[in-house]
Amino acid sequence: MPALGASQEFFQIAEDETTRHSQSVKKLITQLDLLSLHTMIEDFSDFQNRFFNGSEYSMKASRWLYTKINQTVTASNATGVAVEVFDRAGWDQPSIIVSIPGMSAKTIVVGAHQDSIIRPCYQVPRDYAPGADDNASGVATLIEALRAILRDPDFAQGHVPNTLEFHFYAAEEVGLQGSKQIFDSYSSQGREVKAMLERIGVLTDYVDLGLTEFVRMIITTVSDPTLVTNHASAQLHGYPAAMTFESKFGDHSRFIHTSLDRADTININHVLQHVTLVIGFAYELGFAPLGNEDITEEL
Ligand SMILES: [Zn+2]
Repeated sequence: MPALGASQEFFQIAEDETTRHSQSVKKLITQLDLLSLHTMIEDFSDFQNRFFNGSEYSMKASRWLYTKINQTVTASNATGVAVEVFDRAGWDQPSIIVSIPGMSAKTIVVGAHQDSIIRPCYQVPRDYAPGADDNASGVATLIEALRAILRDPDFAQGHVPNTLEFHFYAAEEVGLQGSKQIFDSYSSQGREVKAMLERIGVLTDYVDLGLTEFVRMIITTVSDPTLVTNHASAQLHGYPAAMTFESKFGDHSRFIHTSLDRADTININHVLQHVTLVIGFAYELGFAPLGNEDITEEL
């Protein structure tokens, strides 16, 4: 198991930068749509399941997600935003990547997984696995944050120093396979991922301490306290990663990975807090000076 990372630059940014754009972030937050957020969670958890392979419902859910993302991007009138279906897996469900190009290839990633599962019978693709908290709420969080971020003229017109990506992972519940494929690909291409935040319903052991400190600073600035921990596929490739959870550990939904993880058990105000966190994370790191310039750019 790799050692826990601790990127010093994020400790530095946490001290210097986190409040720099707080007024812009707060302005976006005032326009969030609680009803839309709740409706997305209901709609996405209405599918019988979103199991990654061998399930007709999963494919329907992924198509719903792809359409919702495209509608959100189109309605924003932003320029240059790309919605890519990442479909190089040996299973049915694709991951989806939204890229908001900045002025450099340095990339900030926020991610959430789209698949759902119930245990212990998770190999049966007809199971009822609504996965509202885990992780329709994470998917809705990202879409609402995307909608808000694209209202900002600098992001909408590509004037932000760093590139921002929203990832919707397939096949997380079967061992982080969807995110692993993407970060394997990014690593082999030498992609410069500077920070990754995942909104997910389970806890893992891979975290960049510097980035996590940065996220804590954002929470202090624009959101209410919640537990912050980590995520693995990005961190395994040396990409600094952090993760947020829907509530304090031990106080989370008991329904995760059961047929009872339904939309009517969701605390929508917790979800809304996560939207504000994702916006703060994306906005501040979008503008943050991250690492040295690539020397080859100057030759
Ligand atoms: Zn799960």
